[in-house]
Amino acid sequence: MSASPLDLKEVRADFPILRESIHGKRLAYLDNAATTQKPTSVMAEMDLYYVHSNANVHRAVHELAARATKSYEAARERIAQWINAPRDSIVFTRGTTESINLVARAYLQPILQPGDEVLVTTMEHHSNIVPWQLVGAKTVAAPINDAGELDIDAWRAMLNPRTKLVAVCHVSNALGTVNPIAEMISEAHARGIPVLIDDAQGIAHLRMDVAALDADFYAASAHKFYGPTGFGFLYAKREHLEAMTPLQGGGDMIDTVSFDGSTWNEVPYKFEAGTPDMAGAIGAATALEYLDSIGLDAIATHEHALLEYATPKMQAIKGLKLIGTAANKSGILSFVMDGAHPHDIGSILDQAGVAIRTGHHCTMPLMQRLCVPATARASLGLYNGTDDIDQLIDGLNMVNRLLG
Ligand code: PMP
Repeated sequence: MSASPLDLKEVRADFPILRESIHGKRLAYLDNAATTQKPTSVMAEMDLYYVHSNANVHRAVHELAARATKSYEAARERIAQWINAPRDSIVFTRGTTESINLVARAYLQPILQPGDEVLVTTMEHHSNIVPWQLVGAKTVAAPINDAGELDIDAWRAMLNPRTKLVAVCHVSNALGTVNPIAEMISEAHARGIPVLIDDAQGIAHLRMDVAALDADFYAASAHKFYGPTGFGFLYAKREHLEAMTPLQGGGDMIDTVSFDGSTWNEVPYKFEAGTPDMAGAIGAATALEYLDSIGLDAIATHEHALLEYATPKMQAIKGLKLIGTAANKSGILSFVMDGAHPHDIGSILDQAGVAIRTGHHCTMPLMQRLCVPATARASLGLYNGTDDIDQLIDGLNMVNRLLG
């Protein structure tokens, strides 16, 4: 592998969990697409918040409440900057899933007519399929080729007057495919169709600019970018947020309340009913600071080099087939092996200290298209190195010795 722009020794020192010993082996954590590990700075800032600033936000005049509100709103500013959005277009949620459900309920459902469609792709996560179905939309999926790339011509041909929304992942969690979202947004907009980008898998790896892209909706989860679990956000264009009615009623989302009726707070607060996750917001913003301190471009270069290091080594393993070989691919290596069920591969690798994920990866329609019940998936993060890949390869050779 060519020299990495990252100092891995230094980076790894920021992630104490990487020092865990697993069944007596060093940990090779290759399950980053499921969730990433947290650097000390994220955990420390969340701790500091509880030690020095904890109070409910927006609703009190005392000093701690002021500190909590300041940190919470600073986090919104930081997250907005990361994707080049105005701060009042960022709605805090529990994650990508809740963000997409919010769009389905508060944006799509009120304008939906019988027979209306959401155009998705075959590689979508269940979170970008089921919420549309729950509100009564028909989900129509554009096909992919055998390499796991979107058939963009077929996708274009599927846009039609019934298409109320295009919803697509930036990066596929099961294949690593990077979709041509800029082209898709301009094609959809040319037909007056808004676009939602599910960036759960892209945000920690590829730079994002929602203004340049002109995305209508954009969803992400902090735990995929080295932040805490249970926190995420939705970006939406101001005009959409203004038009959407709140999903949940309660504290903070109102302007006035009476028994005859209530009026809503301004955006984004009208979508944030109840006491929010202040520590989560602070942790998420700190994670972005952390990524900035290393440099997203350096991270992307490092992960790409690692993907190129791993790919031929995996392809050389007897009976192993990579699932997802798109030309434009992020650091995800899904695979199947002759004579070995993915769950058995996962268990054997676990004994070797290697953490990967096995199963359908919340992409059942994709598994059907690929004619596999499940895959094994190794996914890269910024702290991974060739040593992790070598440990994975040794483990896969062990799988062949035991089961092949
Ligand atoms: N979309 C994609 C592409 C994902 O990978 C995931 C998480 N695996 C989600 C959506 C859902 O994210 P969360 O569970 O954090 O809401």
